[in-house]
Amino acid sequence: MKTVETIEQLRSVRAALAALAAPVGFVPTMGFLHAGHLSLVKLAQQDCASVVVSIFVNPTQFGPSEDLEAYPRDIPKDLKLLEDAGVDLVWLPTPEVIYPPGFQTWVEVEQVSQPLEGARRPGHFRGVATVVAKLFNAVGAEKAYFGQKDAQQVAVIKQMVRDLNMPVEIGVGAIIREPDGLAMSSRNSYLSAEERRAATVLYRALQAAEVAYAAGERDAAAIRSLMEATIQAEPLAELQYVSCADRHTLEELERIEDGALLSMAVFVGKTRLIDNLVIGAE
Ligand code: AMP
Repeated sequence: MKTVETIEQLRSVRAALAALAAPVGFVPTMGFLHAGHLSLVKLAQQDCASVVVSIFVNPTQFGPSEDLEAYPRDIPKDLKLLEDAGVDLVWLPTPEVIYPPGFQTWVEVEQVSQPLEGARRPGHFRGVATVVAKLFNAVGAEKAYFGQKDAQQVAVIKQMVRDLNMPVEIGVGAIIREPDGLAMSSRNSYLSAEERRAATVLYRALQAAEVAYAAGERDAAAIRSLMEATIQAEPLAELQYVSCADRHTLEELERIEDGALLSMAVFVGKTRLIDNLVIGAE
C-alpha cells in the first residue's frame, strides 16, 4: 500500500495512479476509521480493480463552534486498517494543499443543501461539496463511495456530480451499526459509558417509527411525534430535529405515499449524533 501526503506527491505518483488497474474506486474519509468506512472499502473492492482512500479532516465543513480541533485522529491505526483491508493507495493531504493561500473557489449545491443538516450547520455542505470536488479532481477515480449514514451528503454529492457532469459514478453503502443499533461514527468516541448507553435512543426512535409505518401509519406528523417522544424519554438526549422527508428532495412530507427518509440530530451530552432510516422504499 502506498501513502501520499501532498497533492504534488499525488501528481508525482501519477505513474502509481496510472499503474493502478482500472476501474479505480475512491473512498473519501476524515479518518479515525471504523467498520462503516471499511464497508465502503469492501464495496469499492467488489466493483473496482483498485481502491484509493483519502484521509482529510476538512476544516471548511466545520462551523466555528464545532469540533474541528477535537475531531479524533489516529493515522497509524487508520493506515494499518487500510493496509490490512488491501487498499492500494492512501492520500493524506494537508489543509495547505487543499486550501492554498488566497483560496476563493467554492462549490455550492443549492436546494438540497438547505434543509436538515444544512439548516443547522450553515456552510457545512459548501465545505463538503468543495472538498469532494477537489478530491475527485485529484484522484480521477471512475467510482466513489459514500455512506447512507450521511444521507443528505449523498444527495448533495449526487446533485453536484449531475450538475457539473463529473465523470464519476457514486456508490452508496448501507449504515453499519453496533450490535445495539448505534450507527458507527468517529464521534461515538466522545461518549462516556453512560452517554454511550443513552445514544441507542436514536435507533430506537427510528425503529418505533418503522413499526408504526408497518402498522399502517402514513401521517408524517404522527411519525415525527413518535420519534420526538422516544428521544424526549431519554434524559441524556437533547433533540435538535426530527424529519420525515421525501427521499429525493428532502422536503418534509405531510403524508407518506412513496417511502420516506426518517432522520434526526440529537445531542447526547455535548456530542451531536445523526442517524436515519428509509422506510417504504421499493
Ligand atoms: P467520515 O469519515 O465521517 O467523513 O465518513 C467517511 C464516509 O464513511 C462517509 O461517506 C460516511 O457517510 C461513511 N460512514 C460513516 N459512518 C458510517 C456508517 N456507520 N456506516 C456506513 N458508512 C459510514
